[in-house]
Amino acid sequence: MRKNIVAGNWKMNNNLQEGIALATDLQAALQGKTLQCDVIIGTPFIHLATVAGTIDPRLIGVAAQNCADRASGAFTGEVSAAMVASTGAKYVILGHSERRTYYGETNAILKEKVLLALANDLTPIFCIGEVLDERNAGKHFDVVEKQVAEGLFGLSPADFAKIVIAYEPVWAIGTGKTATTEQAQEMHAFIRKIIAEKYGQSLADGVSILYGGSCNAGNAKELFANPDVDGGLIGGASLSVEKFLPIVEAF
Ligand code: PEP
Repeated sequence: MRKNIVAGNWKMNNNLQEGIALATDLQAALQGKTLQCDVIIGTPFIHLATVAGTIDPRLIGVAAQNCADRASGAFTGEVSAAMVASTGAKYVILGHSERRTYYGETNAILKEKVLLALANDLTPIFCIGEVLDERNAGKHFDVVEKQVAEGLFGLSPADFAKIVIAYEPVWAIGTGKTATTEQAQEMHAFIRKIIAEKYGQSLADGVSILYGGSCNAGNAKELFANPDVDGGLIGGASLSVEKFLPIVEAF
């Protein structure tokens, strides 16, 4: 079922106490409001269990920002999808451009992570998007199609229907440069079209496709008004209730 979603990605910010305070303050700000979207926060691993145990899951869903591409075993420093699920988190952000760029995550690795997330009843928020050179060279549709096809098109229709996609043009992440509403809609419609070609229109119509990249209180309403933009993945602006709440309320 297609849903409107606003998901925060805290990245590597906030110690445990600060994270608990931010989650608690956000919950207090959302309490009693009638929202037109689901709200998710993506916290560092060490926050997951405490934050998930503190907040009301009916108000805020909790996401990890990554999980391992192996189920268990001698992989020092890694955190498995099963471990994430055991904290009470229900989502996992996978394939964020920072993971792809700094930690060498390929579509093949991400495919394994998606399967493990699904096997542990986590909803993957699967990030895709082109870098500036690719857009300038007119290759952005090809890049995005390859990321979707290689990362996700091995899934059964039933599993694909559980995926949330986040289109995040890399040149817009943390740069203050947002895709225009036309650029966002054009790419979201393209993503939905390739999903429809693979899995059929009705499944494609049910997939939530979020936009990410310098989304803020000033541009969220215009971006979310596009027919194929079902919400946002929010980095910097998710680190304060003051900045995050107006984005949630943009629906
Ligand atoms: C992100 O990291 O997913 C993101 C969209 O960051 P920002 O909102 O800061 O551009």
